[in-house]
Amino acid sequence: MSASSPLAVPHDAPFGVRNLPYGVFSTADEPELRRIGVAYGDHVLDAGAAARATGAPADLAAALGAPSLNPLLAAGRPLWTRARAALTAWLTEDRHRAAVEPCLLPRADVRLHLPFEVADYVDFYASEHHAGNVGRIFRPGSEPLPPNWKHLPIGYHGRAGTIVVSGTPVVRPCGQRKAPADPAPTYGPSRRLDIEAELGFVVGTPTPLGSRVALADADDHVFGVCLVNDWSARDLQAWEYVPLGPFLGKSFATSVSPWVVPLDALAAARTAPPARDTEPLPYLDDRAAPTPYGLDVALDVRINGTVISRPPFAAMYWTYAQMLAHLTVNGASLRTGDFYASGTISGPERDTRGALIELTWNGEEPLELADGTRRTYLEDGDEVVISATAPGADGTRIALGEVAGRIAPAV
Ligand code: MN
Repeated sequence: MSASSPLAVPHDAPFGVRNLPYGVFSTADEPELRRIGVAYGDHVLDAGAAARATGAPADLAAALGAPSLNPLLAAGRPLWTRARAALTAWLTEDRHRAAVEPCLLPRADVRLHLPFEVADYVDFYASEHHAGNVGRIFRPGSEPLPPNWKHLPIGYHGRAGTIVVSGTPVVRPCGQRKAPADPAPTYGPSRRLDIEAELGFVVGTPTPLGSRVALADADDHVFGVCLVNDWSARDLQAWEYVPLGPFLGKSFATSVSPWVVPLDALAAARTAPPARDTEPLPYLDDRAAPTPYGLDVALDVRINGTVISRPPFAAMYWTYAQMLAHLTVNGASLRTGDFYASGTISGPERDTRGALIELTWNGEEPLELADGTRRTYLEDGDEVVISATAPGADGTRIALGEVAGRIAPAV
């Protein structure tokens, strides 16, 4: 095939055939028409058009021809496997070339949308380093981790309706703020707007009310992963969070990357989670699991182009399978499009912390950016970009893309 063909993508490219992440796009010609796309090289494959052009079976063509990923998510792992095999064949086999080549559009020319309809959203708190740092900042002199932390993955229910795709401006939230020394709360724009670099897990196959998802069944339900920025107004959060947890300090916006990387693409990234010093209850005990559920995903976080952190997902204490097992252990059902995020990813070193509150130690140690300016928390106009890569099959390295957002002034 000629080097100028959009199908001429090296197999070890970040968006090569070992990756094949799914998104939803529209074009300038047909802005109302949403289509499922698969990132390939510098192009996006119109997956529904490719299915029709290659004469794919009706169920596969219907799922890939939908305006969101939800029908594919709902179909379950057997169709996920068939879709990945079909995409691999369409993009690499000469016999499909004439049919598939016209279905590739330059990625720079398409607009990417939220790739799935979010059902419920849960955010966890699964990094021991993050939880420990936050504990040391807010409760100096006492145990950094709360007594339940090593027995269960702590989480809270977030706001599904304010999950937005990468590139959506983030308006600085207003709310009640009260520092400990203030006599009374005041209302106004957040002065301590922060980021949280996280990984998010997209649930496909639903479950009935009253059932549980065992660790070993997690991969029947989890379709893939996104990058997440869980924007956090620390001043709003600090005043509101006792006793029921995060609320308006988080719910104004949560940004996700436009590409959902299938779990199948992360098979080579699986790694054992860190050693744990507390015996888990049986439903969370993965020590005899046939597959490790840790993931060696390497993130980087940039503010206005300066890398401020490189958080390692491999350092997370709780795995995505444990989070899902815990999320359903009370019999809560899963819906297609449920989304759960890991919580801030922080490693042991200072430059691997995934939130400004830790990186600047609650504002006491400002960061310096490449332009010479200093940051404790975010300023209006700041752009935050979180990107990530992971080991792919055959020694390759795959990209998870990026989640970006720029802070707009409060209104
Ligand atoms: Mn979070």
